[in-house]
Amino acid sequence: MTTVLAPQRATFSRLHAPTLCTLPTAVAENVHRVRAATTARIMAVVKADGYGHGAVAVATAAVAAGAGWLGVTDVGEARALRESGLSVPILSWLNPSGVDAEEAATQRVDIAVGSAEELRQLIADAGRPVRVHLHLDTGMARGGSPLDEWPELLRLARSGRGRVEVVGVMGHLPRADEGDPAANAAAVLRMRQGRDAVLRAGFGPVLVHLAATSGALTDPATHFGMVRIGAGLVGIDPSERTVLAGASRWTAPVVHSVLASPGTAVGYGGAHVTDRETHLSVVGWGTPTASLGSWRRMRASRSGDAAPDRGEGVDGPDRRRHRRGAVPRGTVATVFGPDGGAVPAVQDWARWAGSIPHTVVTGIGTRVQRSVA
Ligand SMILES: *Cc1c(COP(=O)(O)O)cnc(C)c1O
Repeated sequence: MTTVLAPQRATFSRLHAPTLCTLPTAVAENVHRVRAATTARIMAVVKADGYGHGAVAVATAAVAAGAGWLGVTDVGEARALRESGLSVPILSWLNPSGVDAEEAATQRVDIAVGSAEELRQLIADAGRPVRVHLHLDTGMARGGSPLDEWPELLRLARSGRGRVEVVGVMGHLPRADEGDPAANAAAVLRMRQGRDAVLRAGFGPVLVHLAATSGALTDPATHFGMVRIGAGLVGIDPSERTVLAGASRWTAPVVHSVLASPGTAVGYGGAHVTDRETHLSVVGWGTPTASLGSWRRMRASRSGDAAPDRGEGVDGPDRRRHRRGAVPRGTVATVFGPDGGAVPAVQDWARWAGSIPHTVVTGIGTRVQRSVA
């Protein structure tokens, strides 16, 4: 008796848990699109846990598709990649928790050095030689040493030979998302000046890298020896010039379904008032709505269209049948995905929230289970 009842009860009460599924084939496809745009090496940047998609999953897919380097913003992130068996060169920059020189050497992590102070510290700490990339500020004031401090940096690097080994020079483009090569010209020029100074100081050969996703896709003059691709791996081109493959699908169950009469106030503060009899479905996506923008903003930006959490925009297993009717509890809704049609993309959510796609994908809470397709 119980053996018959138990599975039935489990099937009846269990809903599909909110899940973000990373799609390695999409990551691979995005690497191939970058490959088609450049002959430079490709670094897969997997900071912020691979832009919310799982650093190891994204890195593994990108390396298998031809990325020869990995990029992170903390040596601890690099450790997790090494532990998963990834053996390609890794560069870490900004390093908010500081740099343990011993660990950098052990894990074979290259360190980007953006100031004389950081370099002095690294030289003092280094037992075994640490590979460094000198980070030039190419016009963003968000990391890197300005060109007028370059002579001091190079003097230090020379004095630290044997403890630090200069193997690269990096910059970062401040305006690549404009998709206009003219906006990059000043940074490209500065990058050349920085590189030439390094070579004149007797270092070399050095790997020079300046461009991220937008520069890689829109301006070959910025490519130098390597491009660093982060957002692009997961389907985001900040310049919005190229359509890339969305690399995740977020699914969640409908947890509540109700038929509201005209004039029903919906949500906090009555953010929406129904103007007709309306089927409302609540999707339990496992993260506070505020992190994706309020109902009010979504409604406003869709100028009266169905917002996804009204139920009419959700994609269920039998969507056609439910289009004008109730989307019942237990239906699996797609919050976003690369599917097109009625299924919103990450970019749609960013627009509704008055935000950027990066914030959407990195803002998904830990209550949302992660899987890899
Ligand atoms: C985040 C980051 C990248 C990757 O940028 P995307 O636009 O996400 O490709 C590249 N370089 C640096 C220095 C970064 O901080």
